Amino acid sequence: MIVLGTKKDLLDRTPQVISTAVAANLCAAVVMRQELVINFLFFLFGQCPQSFPLRFRRLAAKIYHLGGVHSGAAIAGTVWFGIYNVSIARLRDQDVGQDFRIVLVVFTIVLDALLLGICISSHPALRAKYHNWFECIHRFAGWLAIALFWVHIILLTLASRRGMSPMPSVGQLLVKSPPFWLVVVITVSLALPWLRLRKVRVEAEPLSSHAIRLHFDYANTPLCAAPRFSDNPLKEWHAFAGIPETNGKKGFSVLVSRAGDWTSKMIENPPTRLWTKGMLTRGVLHVAPIFKRLVLVCTGSGIGPMLALTAGNNLNCRILWSTPSPEKTFGKNVMDTLHRVDPGAVIINTTLVGRQDLLEPAYTQFKQMDAEAIFIISNPKVTRKLVYGLEARGVPTFAPIFDS
Ligand SMILES: Cc1cc2nc3c(=O)[nH]c(=O)nc-3n(C[C@H](O)[C@H](O)[C@H](O)COP(=O)(O)OP(=O)(O)OC[C@H]3O[C@@H](n4cnc5c(N)ncnc54)[C@H](O)[C@@H]3O)c2cc1C
Repeated sequence: MIVLGTKKDLLDRTPQVISTAVAANLCAAVVMRQELVINFLFFLFGQCPQSFPLRFRRLAAKIYHLGGVHSGAAIAGTVWFGIYNVSIARLRDQDVGQDFRIVLVVFTIVLDALLLGICISSHPALRAKYHNWFECIHRFAGWLAIALFWVHIILLTLASRRGMSPMPSVGQLLVKSPPFWLVVVITVSLALPWLRLRKVRVEAEPLSSHAIRLHFDYANTPLCAAPRFSDNPLKEWHAFAGIPETNGKKGFSVLVSRAGDWTSKMIENPPTRLWTKGMLTRGVLHVAPIFKRLVLVCTGSGIGPMLALTAGNNLNCRILWSTPSPEKTFGKNVMDTLHRVDPGAVIINTTLVGRQDLLEPAYTQFKQMDAEAIFIISNPKVTRKLVYGLEARGVPTFAPIFDS
């Protein structure tokens, strides 16, 4: 963009040319959220041998920042779409025909609104505050935008046939058009998880008025992968860390703690069936075993992802868990698993001692363990504070803010 801009011909490009840049960026954004791609990347980086230099493994564990590629590419695509606006505005009736031109202009304006709506509603502050809106806008505006891109591509292809002799078929032109293939990839990426939409059986294990454990037997979980569940597929989806069942049983369970309307509904009216789609998607903790010794810091239901990591694995780790009345809230099974995977786990019962500063205990455990890294699953406030404090002390810290 900078090169074209300095040559001053950025704004002289045809819609056909600019649409390639738009589609390439949006394709990168969508593909980065595709479960197959995410699973492949986490699998690949999770293969990093422990014998590799620590500096290298620290970099490999940063793979969970791939969400940044998604948002970066989406914003770049939106900026390119701004330039596409110029190319559409400069079209003349004789270029594409009056009817096509009007449709292209109107759909471009609608696309402006859709892309801006998606970008604005994805701002972390808005996303956290209006999560259901964020999800709906992302889903429906995204789908509508792709449908309108298809219209643009077809119309521009039809228009580009004008004056060609002999006139090629639309198909012949489309197969040679990069935007066409890019939008095919986008469409397939978006459709794939929905092709695996199904209802699955749930066995609910009520734990307390704050938490419930849901057991599933429709699939086994890869290490630290998250299934998504919904009771209203078009409205909202929720991801949880899949904890493998032990004792040779098939399936996995998820811990769900009261964090909003949907989780409250699950706790108060335990489901017998839920919708799921796509496949279980690996997350940040999948790469944790590339470190020889770990400290795992969590609050409340953050113990779920930590058990997903440790339950079926023989890891050299120390768990630091700050939570109210652990056994009363999360039940005996969770406590038994926790003590089995880390007999020396440090549990801060906030009902008894209040919310303690977790920075010092986390750093102390890191030093005592001579650990190579700290992973954190907590609420955004604690996560940010710990990441800041620990990284300032040179501790490799890995801590996602969002659970999906
Ligand atoms: C990658 C990822 C995966 C996740 N997976 C799941 C999942 O599988 N299931 C699920 O239910 N949630 C999951 N979450 C959400 C996550 O568990 C919660 O955001 C986090 O644990 C906060 O816990 P909470 O919601 O119970 O509430 P919080 O308000 O954070 O409080 C929970 C308890 O933590 C302690 N606590 C909170 N703040 C402090 C503090 N400042 N100092 C000391 N102690 C404190 C207190 O005991 C408090 O009662 C996930 C989040 C991420 C980022």
